[in-house]
Amino acid sequence: MYSVEWTNTPEYSTMYHDLPQAASFWSFLFTVDQDLAETARKNGCSCGGRLHRANYPRKPGGISISLPEEQRVRLSFCCDREGCRKRVTPPSVRFLGRRVFVAAFVILISTMRQGPTPRRVRELSQRFKVDRRTIARWQVFWREHFPQTPFWKIAHARLTPIVKIVSLPYSLVDAFLRRHPPDVGWTRLLRFLSPITISRGLKIEVPH
Ligand SMILES: [Zn+2]
Repeated sequence: MYSVEWTNTPEYSTMYHDLPQAASFWSFLFTVDQDLAETARKNGCSCGGRLHRANYPRKPGGISISLPEEQRVRLSFCCDREGCRKRVTPPSVRFLGRRVFVAAFVILISTMRQGPTPRRVRELSQRFKVDRRTIARWQVFWREHFPQTPFWKIAHARLTPIVKIVSLPYSLVDAFLRRHPPDVGWTRLLRFLSPITISRGLKIEVPH
C-alpha cells in the first residue's frame, strides 16, 4: 500500500522520457487495440454467432500525425448469423468518446498541464498540434466530468485501497507508471480506461 502525493514525486519530470515519438506510439497503441479486438472476437456475438471483421475508417481528431493507412480504422466486427448481423465494436485505447482523440496524448497533455513544467507542455502541444482550447476542455473533463461518471465511481472504489487519488488524471498516470516500465504502465493504464470508449460504459461529449 502506498499513497500518491503529487507535489512530492521526484519521478514526475522524468516519467515520460521513454515515451516514443508520436507515430511509433500510435503503432504501439494500435497493437493494444488489436489485443482488445481479439478478445472480443473470441467471445463472439451474444446470439452465439461468429464475428467477422468489419472495421470502419476513423481518424484521430484534434491531433495531426501521419499514420499508415491500415491504422486509420476503428477495429470492429459483425455477427455472421442470418437475422442477427449485430455490430460489435470492442473497446479502444486510441479513441475516447464520440469525438475521437488519441487517448494517451490527451491523458499525457492533461497531466503535464497540472505539473510544474509549462515549457514541456508547450513543446508537446506544438509537436502533436493540439490547440490550447482542446487542452483546456480536457482539463475540465478530467476535473469535473470524469469523477461523476459511473465508470469512475466503481473504478475509484477498486483503486483507493492502493492509490490515493490526489489529482486527476495525474494520480492515475502516476499509479500505473510508477511501478512499471513505461510501455507496460501505459498499456495497463489504457486498458484500465478502455471501457469508457464503449457507449454503454460512459458517454463523453466534449463541446466545441
Ligand atoms: Zn449475432
